[in-house]
Amino acid sequence: MSFVTYATRDGSTWTPEYLMSIDHELCIGCGRCFKVCTMGVLKLQGVDEEGNFCDPFDDDEGEVERKVMTIEKAGACIGCASCQTVCGTKAQKHAPLAA
Ligand code: SF4
Ligand code: SF4
Repeated sequence: MSFVTYATRDGSTWTPEYLMSIDHELCIGCGRCFKVCTMGVLKLQGVDEEGNFCDPFDDDEGEVERKVMTIEKAGACIGCASCQTVCGTKAQKHAPLAA
């Protein structure tokens, strides 16, 4: 199988590794990936005790059980893999695009 490739500045072949999924069993919502993503792909979400997403920053009533990172704009990902590099829990899956 061949994959979509681009060129680096010196013309070398570069194969982007796009963010495909985040395993919410492994993600601890640390936010490190959010900080390095320049494309606005990611969004932090709170999770309530029933497993529903909620506002992670509005916890006046103590409903936020934990936080997880979600993929908000998958199509904006450029496949730089910076988020994978900083993730300490191996929660993310990345893959190239089939050509
Ligand atoms: S691979 Fe790059 S562009 Fe895509 S979500 Fe991760 S940091 Fe953002
Ligand atoms: S860096 Fe990893 S553990 Fe931290 S929020 Fe991102 S996906 Fe979750």
